[in-house]
Amino acid sequence: MATVGDVARLLPRGYDDLRRAVEVGWLEAAGLEDGGGVTARGRVVRARIVPVRRRFLEVVLEPPEEGASPSMSPSTIPSSGAGAGAGRNVKERLVLRWFHARFGMEARFPLGSSVVVAGKLRLARGQAEMANPEVIAVEGAGAGAAGEAAGKPARGIRPRYPEVDGVAGAVVRKLALAAARKLAPRARDGIPAAVAARQGLPPAGDALLLLHDPPETLEGDALAALLGLASPAHRRLAFEELFYLQLGLLERRARAAADPAPVCAPPAEAMSKLRATLPFVLTGAQEAAIAELARDLAAPRPMQRLLQGDVGAGKTAVAFAGAHLAAAAGRQAALMAPTELLAEQHLATLAPWAAALGHRVTLLTASTPRPVRESQLALIAAGVTRIVVGTHALLADRVAFHDLALAIVDEQHRFGVAQRARLRDKGGAGAAAPHLLVMTATPIPRTLALTAYGDLDLTILGELPPGRTPARTHVAWGDAGRAKADALIAREARAGHQAFVVCPQIDPGQGPDDELVEGARTRAHVGATHARLARNPDLRVGLVHGRLPANEREDVMGRFSRGELDVLVATTVIEVGVDIPRATVMVVEDAERFGLSQLHQLRGRVGRGQGQTPYCILCTSVGASSPAADRLRVLVGSSDGFAIAEADLAIRGPGELFGTRQAGLPRILYGDLQRHAELIVEARREAERVRAEDPTLSQPAHAGLAAAMAERAAKVKLYAEEAG
Ligand code: ADP
Ligand code: MG
Repeated sequence: MATVGDVARLLPRGYDDLRRAVEVGWLEAAGLEDGGGVTARGRVVRARIVPVRRRFLEVVLEPPEEGASPSMSPSTIPSSGAGAGAGRNVKERLVLRWFHARFGMEARFPLGSSVVVAGKLRLARGQAEMANPEVIAVEGAGAGAAGEAAGKPARGIRPRYPEVDGVAGAVVRKLALAAARKLAPRARDGIPAAVAARQGLPPAGDALLLLHDPPETLEGDALAALLGLASPAHRRLAFEELFYLQLGLLERRARAAADPAPVCAPPAEAMSKLRATLPFVLTGAQEAAIAELARDLAAPRPMQRLLQGDVGAGKTAVAFAGAHLAAAAGRQAALMAPTELLAEQHLATLAPWAAALGHRVTLLTASTPRPVRESQLALIAAGVTRIVVGTHALLADRVAFHDLALAIVDEQHRFGVAQRARLRDKGGAGAAAPHLLVMTATPIPRTLALTAYGDLDLTILGELPPGRTPARTHVAWGDAGRAKADALIAREARAGHQAFVVCPQIDPGQGPDDELVEGARTRAHVGATHARLARNPDLRVGLVHGRLPANEREDVMGRFSRGELDVLVATTVIEVGVDIPRATVMVVEDAERFGLSQLHQLRGRVGRGQGQTPYCILCTSVGASSPAADRLRVLVGSSDGFAIAEADLAIRGPGELFGTRQAGLPRILYGDLQRHAELIVEARREAERVRAEDPTLSQPAHAGLAAAMAERAAKVKLYAEEAG
């Protein structure tokens, strides 16, 4: 459903400065060097397919006819080394060749048409040549549909648009230009004048025109900024988008905070009972987080909090504390995990604590057998079961709570906003919305936190429980490296320790980022890895992956956690949450296929027992000097989850870090989370300021903004449905 506005906002991804184009006839005079890059313009005198083995298209350009292209003057020719007195050489020709050409391609270059190409100039045997140059324009003399006759003549600074399926570049350019010209004079300016003035932003219409129709006189810094896609016009579009986004988030937060919420007032001794029950002393960070939780839970407004703590920071205990406070107050809590395995493990952890505190707890997943589930549902609906641990199955319509006061979502990046909202709708008694606690181990860079989670309050669990040693991390190159990893596993097993060996997904085509991988061998198969390790008669090796039926998986996990297995070969089903204190080794096969944050999480699985030396071995077959290898070295050099997430964000972008769609990350078209970090913070500040001055946007100065927000709300709704 594209509108004229959408077309006008289809931004050029670059610009060609055709004023710099050197005419054939002046190439020699310009003193251009062999191998140098150049944009050249000439008149087609020949175009033919040469049917040799690497069949090529050859186009020969000669100087434009005298007077045919008045815009070109020798003064715009780069002056470097231009021979004094050297003039136009009417005998000069430029030969263009495109290899592996198809028959018929010569028709793109009608005789007599004017062509602009960019590429590397080769000067050989007194002839100027270019191989596979980029065609920037073909115009005049019967240039066909793909030509420029209909579009803007190839002069000045010409925008280059992203490719649109099935639409010729010239057509996109023409449409965008027409749309921009039509819209510019009456473009709605949603940004309040005061904000635009503070931020030094040009009016919307001016920005549109500059981007689609740059003035031919642009020079110097302004030209450089445009070519670098960093002009004030670019900044304006990015700001506008980020500003609306922040306003929307603030609005959403304000709306949600206006709902009534179940007040949890547990007895005074609830906290001391909790401390007496947990098998460890809470860290200072955990105590602070729980205190914050207790305060939020006792308030009549729904908590919307993100709990962020590096892997192993002890988020489960904080979550349990929240659930306990809700239960002790006579209400219910739900803990939702992304996988059954994790839900099972949460239950195993929490059940003894809950029992000691007198709370009934249950596990609800898709594989809970029917009859069991029916009685479970009845107990949940009656409010007898106080703490429910589960997966997405918790969101099913048939799950009705008696009095859900707290919903906790673990490892949030796998849940969509829509699911978050559904959990919120499970309030039960009355219309009160439950308090919401979202937990994540992926440290979220501030810019991303402001955009993806801008509607949540943030608690950071910035301290690990005592006695943890960061894993010694090594990259193991090729087969020799893997042999060393196998030897380490055997050695640790003899010492009574355990090892994880994680492989990429078992399904070909399911793994992450093939494009990041250079020369990776075929995906390690869990089965093959298991077989290799099992050849060592001293090792007891188990295998677990997502395709295994839940009971078998549970059985293997159970044996591993009881120490009956030395090695667990697994896919990333163990990625988050599993807790095996005796595990000291984490080996990752084809490590280059994983994201850095994911690898960091994996290595957080080892070294949880006191006084151990944990190891993380990243096996890879990429070359030691490849970019993929550089990524892996980030992990060797850092155990700081934040720094790693920043690096991951910079390398792979937020979509990869979070899975854009699952995360419900808003679509950002012009803004860029890295390049515009400062702009995001500015947008947030301005949005807060506007809301503080005029929460309902009813002041006349905010009329344009109110209209823009209304329009945006309609679109966001569409996106949310898509992403759900
Ligand atoms: P995560 O934040 O990654 O979810 P967990 O909640 O799984 O971390 O905790 C990791 C491990 O640390 C578990 O074995 C847990 O029992 C232990 N743990 C949590 N809090 C403490 C603490 N205060 N002192 C000692 N161990 C703790
Ligand atoms: Mg966890």
